[in-house]
Amino acid sequence: MRLLLTTSQGIEDLAKKEVERLFESKEIKVSVEEKPFGVEGRLIAEVEESFYTDEKGKKREFNPATFLNENSRLLHRVIVEIASLKFKGIESQEPEKALKEIYNFVYSLPIENYVKITESFAVRPFRKGEHEFTSVDIAKTVGSAIYDRLSRYGKPKVNLDHPSVIFRAELIDDTFFLGIDTTGDSSLHKRSWRVYDHPAHLKASIANAMIELAELDGGSVIDPMCGSGTILIELALKGYEGRIIGIEKYKKHLRGARMNALAAGVLGKIEFIQGDATKLTQYVDSVDFAISNLPYGLKIGKKSLIPKLYMDFFSQLSKVLEKRGVFLTTEKRAIEEAFAENGFRILHHRLVGHGGLRVHLYIIQ
Ligand code: SAM
Repeated sequence: MRLLLTTSQGIEDLAKKEVERLFESKEIKVSVEEKPFGVEGRLIAEVEESFYTDEKGKKREFNPATFLNENSRLLHRVIVEIASLKFKGIESQEPEKALKEIYNFVYSLPIENYVKITESFAVRPFRKGEHEFTSVDIAKTVGSAIYDRLSRYGKPKVNLDHPSVIFRAELIDDTFFLGIDTTGDSSLHKRSWRVYDHPAHLKASIANAMIELAELDGGSVIDPMCGSGTILIELALKGYEGRIIGIEKYKKHLRGARMNALAAGVLGKIEFIQGDATKLTQYVDSVDFAISNLPYGLKIGKKSLIPKLYMDFFSQLSKVLEKRGVFLTTEKRAIEEAFAENGFRILHHRLVGHGGLRVHLYIIQ
């Protein structure tokens, strides 16, 4: 089975490792390709067919898509791939011609192998890049091609609100992917524990990428500006045994973080402190790891205050941090100045896609 997997841009390598690790734990062979056709935020996994024996002793086929939906912490969607193709030049084509090409391609595919005529279906589109048409046009075109193809077998059923089968049609620049979306309408990064919605919350997939990159060893971990607690909650959910501490300046967000931790069933594993990260030494003498999505001053707060906030915070951090720090910000200059001024060395830097922005991720020592 070929699966098209989606995640945040810039963490494909970590998602690949997670997928390999998950299938390895089940002794199932998998080969994972990062960024198929050069498309960021996407992976293709080729998973070998395998079987297991259920509690009644019956031989059953192992479903890799369900397995990933239930166990991945880095993926957004798990799509059973029907076909992928590069439509060279589609970006500059007349809309009618481009959409006709998509229609013909989808119509030529064995759609009937993926949906029964008695099942209702809908197409969810995704489009990124410069095109002369919209994602709604893609949904309509792909929907008609599927409908027409299935009409050979009876009267197809369309249900846009509650379909039995969701087709996902993605056009990213000139690459087209079509598959069955096994994740459903809510992306996996939207965690069910999120009962408090912080205005600048971090995607849980990126939180997990930061946790992976920190290479934790069981030592204490702090998020000094923890907002609604995403990083700490995801860490606790992984069963982390070390001390987990969260500091947040505002009561409202801290209360929200506690509510989220309670909903996740990990409130007892995290020490939440209402406090100011620029006075870090008042709360902790020493901490092994710091992982944080810092304020950027975009959604909340003033941008002009960021350089001083970072300078004061990293000055305090330099007095307590024993091992590594992983930080995320849009404010490259301010953070790099604060690192340099306070004796931190950058071990790794990468760009990650978050909420339509390219965010800088740093590992420091
Ligand atoms: N990762 C968090 C989440 O998923 O909800 C969001 C963090 S948000 C980008 C940054 C947080 O830092 C905000 O909640 C803000 O209130 C907090 N903050 C700003 N200045 C602070 C300070 N001096 N000390 C502690 N927290 C601060």
